[in-house]
Amino acid sequence: MSDKPVRVRFAPSPTGPLHMGGVRTALYNYLFAKKNNGTFIIRIEDTDQTRFVEGAQDYIMDALTWCGIEATEGPGIGGEYGPYVQSERKPMYKQYAIDLVTTDKAYYAFDTAEELDAVREQAKAMGMPNWQYNNVTRTSLKNSLTLSADDVKAKLDAGEQYVIRMKMPRNEDVRFQDIIRGWVVVNSNNLDDKVLFKSDGMPTYHLANIIDDHLMKISHVIRGEEWLPSAPLHILLYKAFGWDVPEFAHLPLLLRPDGNGKLSKRDGDRLGFPVFPTDWLSADGEKYSGYREAGYFPDAFINMLAFLGWNPGTQQEIFSMDELVQAFSLERVGKAGAKFDADKTKWFQQQYLRKMPNKELAILLGEELDKGFDQEALEKICGLMKERATFVKDIITEGIYLIERPTVYDKSIIAKKWKENSYETMTEWKERLMSLTEFNGPTIEIAFKSFLEMKEMGVGAVLPLFRFLLTGTAMGPSMFEIAEYLGKDECMDRMFEGLKQMEK
Ligand code: GLU
Repeated sequence: MSDKPVRVRFAPSPTGPLHMGGVRTALYNYLFAKKNNGTFIIRIEDTDQTRFVEGAQDYIMDALTWCGIEATEGPGIGGEYGPYVQSERKPMYKQYAIDLVTTDKAYYAFDTAEELDAVREQAKAMGMPNWQYNNVTRTSLKNSLTLSADDVKAKLDAGEQYVIRMKMPRNEDVRFQDIIRGWVVVNSNNLDDKVLFKSDGMPTYHLANIIDDHLMKISHVIRGEEWLPSAPLHILLYKAFGWDVPEFAHLPLLLRPDGNGKLSKRDGDRLGFPVFPTDWLSADGEKYSGYREAGYFPDAFINMLAFLGWNPGTQQEIFSMDELVQAFSLERVGKAGAKFDADKTKWFQQQYLRKMPNKELAILLGEELDKGFDQEALEKICGLMKERATFVKDIITEGIYLIERPTVYDKSIIAKKWKENSYETMTEWKERLMSLTEFNGPTIEIAFKSFLEMKEMGVGAVLPLFRFLLTGTAMGPSMFEIAEYLGKDECMDRMFEGLKQMEK
């Protein structure tokens, strides 16, 4: 690696919400920057006004904040290379494009959209469906390479619409070493004369991206594989300007769970999992669901994402952001597309919920409940239920009986276990419980065991009934702990009520 300071950027276009693949790109940039004592920058690439979506920039910034991916420079953050939104940099791009024309690396093209459509149609009719404006076809089109200098000047003076196109060199091998993919070689004859500067006075993505990466002193360009085909043009542009070329790393695609194609924004809700970090409501009223609102913790989401394309080379799977920073390297990012795995994603969430201290989990649980519980009770509920939950809301659904009394007892749950003498047995057990002076898990358990011995009954004949009377369910954590949590009075009331219902 060169000894230049590491400066990397995440450069989303605000054309909609940020797909989780975009979050992964941001994450890898962030991890790479932190690992190398570098700077992570966010730059908004909004030069394509036709694809601009209201609210998308705020969405991107909020989502990254939720993920804990914090930039040192960016919109709303500042930095010495700003502004960090390309539309705010608009006035400076044109001169760069004109400079390229002056040095014969680019040219003015005056062909109208209709004229180009006609040429394209003609080519199609002649069996060439993929017509391009390139180093062959440009010689017969309306541009500053074919028109006389006077004609060009006259057109410019008259304010005729034009674009500036890259003058792609003929038959030149463009080669670069991608950190993830190794050597990439493309012959310039396969590249078209891309538009660099548009007739609306805006640079295209390609031009603005190169200029900004240069001016912002970007050392490494880490971005999705879909940009690999643009890399040769970018390299030629750096060279055309006489600028240093940054290092490149093109990240593997995120694939659908079955490995069949790229994970697209519509897949998520269709296949039953979110593809966005947070909810997004589109202007036409369509809602796309996000991980935050689905109840995922940001660190679980990030841990999962880190593994989509990278691995640490060890068995360890749970990594905090700091641990990811320590372990991360681009050399351990694979070339092959990474399959998204919804079950594994849930597994990560489950692990994070389990390892969260009850104290912290209790606060989240309290926020989900409308009824007031004291912190101690919430912590106990969390302690009892966290092994059975993936999301905070599961603690409530799975452990609803810890939050409120069961009102209806569904007898069918216990039908097989409730025998003729069960009512008497449970009434006796209730009396036994009532007589306990110390009411906690261990004392209840001791009393329960001696009760079974006395009655000469097995655990299976009594414990499920006890659970049913106290909770209305057939499954859950230790009954002795549940009883301790509920307290003697509550247990008595519930058993009384439960027995009454079973009597009917
Ligand atoms: N604006 C591009 C995008 O939306 C950035 C590509 C790049 O990082 O060069 O993904």
